[in-house]
Amino acid sequence: MKVFKTSQSLVEYLSNETRPIGMVPTMGALHSGHLTLIERAVKENKSVLISIFVNPTQFNDKNDLVNYPSSVVEDLLQIKKISKKILVYIPKVNDVYGNIVESKSFDLAGLDQVMEGEKRSGHFQGVATVVAYFLKTFTPDHAYFGEKDFQQLLIINYINRSLNLKTKIIGCPIVREKDGLAMSSRNILLTADQRKKASKLFEALQIAKSNAKRIPYRSLKTTINSFFESQDKITLDYFMIVDPNTLKEIHLDQPVDRGRGFIAAYLGKIRLIDNLDMS
Ligand code: AMP
Repeated sequence: MKVFKTSQSLVEYLSNETRPIGMVPTMGALHSGHLTLIERAVKENKSVLISIFVNPTQFNDKNDLVNYPSSVVEDLLQIKKISKKILVYIPKVNDVYGNIVESKSFDLAGLDQVMEGEKRSGHFQGVATVVAYFLKTFTPDHAYFGEKDFQQLLIINYINRSLNLKTKIIGCPIVREKDGLAMSSRNILLTADQRKKASKLFEALQIAKSNAKRIPYRSLKTTINSFFESQDKITLDYFMIVDPNTLKEIHLDQPVDRGRGFIAAYLGKIRLIDNLDMS
């Protein structure tokens, strides 16, 4: 395993690596969700690059950035267990941004105007800035992203096409805990009580899925709202079913025949998200 702190040293090294090169961008605090992406990248590529970088420009909330978990030593041990040949890029902020730490401005075709984009102003411009930088600088053949952040995956696919980058973006299914909770680095910030309640996000998505074809979407929204109102310690931020390509909300008067359900909820100050195919 080789660790690189600067993009310059990494680019030099990569020029002698055998292709295809697979990249898995992460913010660290690795869990089985990340490891599944890494294992897939190892299977499908001759060389694998993992980045561990908590990207400041994608945090609209300073506290969220300050409290974001970090466990680089454990992360490296977990990566080493998968393969000793993996390359890891752990830059400082100025290696990615220079002295001006701000997002570039991308046309994201409105995909950043709903759900996470609407709730977290500037978040996807920050994501697009760092991912475009990685893809342009390291030119991986394949880059792996989780459907856990489905809206992010769609936006990355969009910038990859519109900037004419040569990487193939590969979406990977959500990895869940036994009770259905989508794995997330933020889960370790939950108290034991909150952790128990956190499975309600997935439960709500399943309730939505089992009723989606039977009742109009409008009534489904009421059902999900009532479900959360009857719970303590968890507060619904939004529940929406949207077209999985355009992210446009489906018609309120009709049952769902095709769409993806998205949910965000607060447990105390911790905000979790999840999504599920409704068809
Ligand atoms: P993050 O470190 O949270 O930025 O995540 C890095 C990558 O891992 C992103 O592409 C995420 O979508 C993906 N990821 C995070 N959690 C999961 C999960 N539970 N299942 C699948 N992919 C995930």
